[in-house]
Amino acid sequence: MGRLFGTNGVRGVINEGLTVDIALDLARAVGTILGPGKVALSRDSRHGGVMFSDAVTSGLLSTGCSVVDIGPAPTPTLQFMVPRLKCVAGVMMTASHNPPEFNGIKVMGSNGIEVSREVESMIEEIYFEKRFRAASWKEIGAVSQYDMAISEFIDAIKSHVDEEAIQRRNLRVVIDGANSVGSLVTPLLLRELGCKVFSLNGQLDGEFPGRNPEPIPENLTELANTVKSVRADIGIAHDGDADRATFVDENGHILWGDQSFALIASRVLARKMGSTLVTPISSGRLIEDIAREAGAKIDWTAVGSVDVSHRLEETGAELGGEENGGVFYPPHQPVRDGAMTAAQMIEIMAVEGKRLTELVAELPLYYSTKVKVSVPAEKKLALLDSLLRLTDDQDRITLDGLKLLFNDGWILIRPSGTEPIYRCFSEAATQEGADRLAERGVELIKEAIAKL
Ligand code: MG
Repeated sequence: MGRLFGTNGVRGVINEGLTVDIALDLARAVGTILGPGKVALSRDSRHGGVMFSDAVTSGLLSTGCSVVDIGPAPTPTLQFMVPRLKCVAGVMMTASHNPPEFNGIKVMGSNGIEVSREVESMIEEIYFEKRFRAASWKEIGAVSQYDMAISEFIDAIKSHVDEEAIQRRNLRVVIDGANSVGSLVTPLLLRELGCKVFSLNGQLDGEFPGRNPEPIPENLTELANTVKSVRADIGIAHDGDADRATFVDENGHILWGDQSFALIASRVLARKMGSTLVTPISSGRLIEDIAREAGAKIDWTAVGSVDVSHRLEETGAELGGEENGGVFYPPHQPVRDGAMTAAQMIEIMAVEGKRLTELVAELPLYYSTKVKVSVPAEKKLALLDSLLRLTDDQDRITLDGLKLLFNDGWILIRPSGTEPIYRCFSEAATQEGADRLAERGVELIKEAIAKL
């Protein structure tokens, strides 16, 4: 049987890899497995958002589900509304940080979390076998609009931070919404919290004229420059569906994702002795240091935000996070949420009365290296076994790929989900150390290939 879902939902180039036929049948399969009941829908600013939304609506109605359309909104806003509107599922039209020609569909269960791999497989089975439920003429669902999603979402985030402390500080903030739905929430949220807000790429435009929607340093030069020219205290950049936030300090320096995650984690985990932090094995020493200092333990997962969300939901852990800057704050909701993350960072600056550069300077510094190694597609699967055999006497974690632990750092080796390559990440206390470990990883991959 073929696969429909990738690492994070269904994605493809509009009208090529992702068509209305796919959207329609996917929705019929979702309605068959998760329905009947209400399903909440939303979309980001991408082209095709309405087209796919309408196809998904038709598919869901035909299975007897009703549809509640909350309008364009960030993915975390939809996720927040799914349980509150007592829906059996949520469907988001987004391709997150992919280039403009892409769109995609993410499916959430009744708790607002992206469905598990098991549920994805059930949906795929129905999809490929076309065993859709067809409701009788009297059971065809209805469509309604819900206009309060964004204001309820903003109120919820405000309830989780020290609003008085933030109001007192009059922070100056530049928000780069990537011409997408993050602009519908974060500027309003921070203005209501008393910040002076400057908006960049604030108009919704599916061609993403301002920048590529992935919030990585090479796409954030304009934000960094704007922060400096308006003398802002902080810059905030979202990805296309605003489940992530990247920060820029007052000097225009872009923070690494693990630094912002560490700043928030150290405060949240310290609130209670013996807290638990859920994070993928791709997270590094900085996060381990922060957890140790806060007396917290780490619950490692495979790489992927969906794994973190499900673990948080199962265990009731205090916080989740990823090294790309995704933060999961369960008292609000157990999913990545860029606006919540932004509010938490602003709260830390306001409560502690420190500038972002000062906060970052308090963190231990580690260096990382990322390299790719091409691997013949037919050897990709066997290579991991070969790597595991080659290293079975070493200190390692084999939860997802291979993570080798050394006194001076670590190496993580994983096959790419989509390309014929292996990725090798390393981290150490110096850049030379990280480069040396990455080289060691590459040598190991070559050795393992030779043994195949
Ligand atoms: Mg995203």
